[in-house]
Amino acid sequence: MLNVKNLIGQEELRRLLTSTLESGKITHAILLRGPAGSEKRSWGRQLAKTLLCQERTTTEPCLKCQSCLSFDRDNNPGFTNLKPDGKTLKTEQVKAIKESFYLTGSIKICLIEEADKMTAEASSSLLKILEDPPAGLTFILLVEQPGQLPDTIVSRCQSYYLRPMPTEELARFLEQEKGMATEKAALVARISSGLLGYALELAADQSLDERIAEARTLAYNLAVGKNPVHHLMGWAEQLALKEDLLPVLELLAMIYRDGLMQNLCRSGDQLQSREQSLIWLEKLMPGDLEEAILLLNQAVYELVATNVNRRLLLEKTLILLQRRLT
Ligand SMILES: [Zn+2]
Repeated sequence: MLNVKNLIGQEELRRLLTSTLESGKITHAILLRGPAGSEKRSWGRQLAKTLLCQERTTTEPCLKCQSCLSFDRDNNPGFTNLKPDGKTLKTEQVKAIKESFYLTGSIKICLIEEADKMTAEASSSLLKILEDPPAGLTFILLVEQPGQLPDTIVSRCQSYYLRPMPTEELARFLEQEKGMATEKAALVARISSGLLGYALELAADQSLDERIAEARTLAYNLAVGKNPVHHLMGWAEQLALKEDLLPVLELLAMIYRDGLMQNLCRSGDQLQSREQSLIWLEKLMPGDLEEAILLLNQAVYELVATNVNRRLLLEKTLILLQRRLT
């Protein structure tokens, strides 16, 4: 079931959905929960396509019938895709599609993206439909935080979870199916924390190589050079202006983490497999690398969770990193 090339991993979800489809016990509302970048939308759409297919085997869409073809063209009359209009998903949006649901005789699927952003009013409109659902109608709700949805809705849903994939499995997929070089695939799998959607986004990012090179240069400079403070402040200023500051800091932490791992489990083989360009990492002490990783994690945390001044935070972090590493 849902045996689509790009929908990898999620074995538990695949197994549960397959058994639900085989038993024919699909309820009027299905809830797919998972972190951003876990491909909820792709799974939701694939499920919708399967349910709408006129010729499906129990668990697979035929890919040839009128429904499958129109679904791929994005004009299947039985499919509606709702997402927040601005910051919230409004009751008018739910009401606007309500009438078409009551046309009898065919299957209707409504996929609601970011269903946790429904206003209270929109939730109660949806609840009214779920309390007395027309035959053949199924909602597929996608959420990151199910806690934001009223219990009255959650309790009427079949719930499924999407989980991050093991990074080794994701790296293998990127290498084998997307033709990515081994080292880069491993790096992307780790930066994306096993989230397929995020990894594919990174894989398509033209500036990724540049970003990796940049993080390596910075990691190197901080570890080997006695850079004068005004250099560090200049770098902090440049970094502070970056939109992609977080991935750069995460990459930096990852480089030091790799150094730490290799220094802790040093062996002839590993030293040989180490890229020439990263040999300098071997000279650093494990305790110093550990401290550097903690400093970077703390900076990432402050950037995400607080309103800290980016430039000042980066100045402090770079100065402390250099002091620790050199
Ligand atoms: Zn079909």
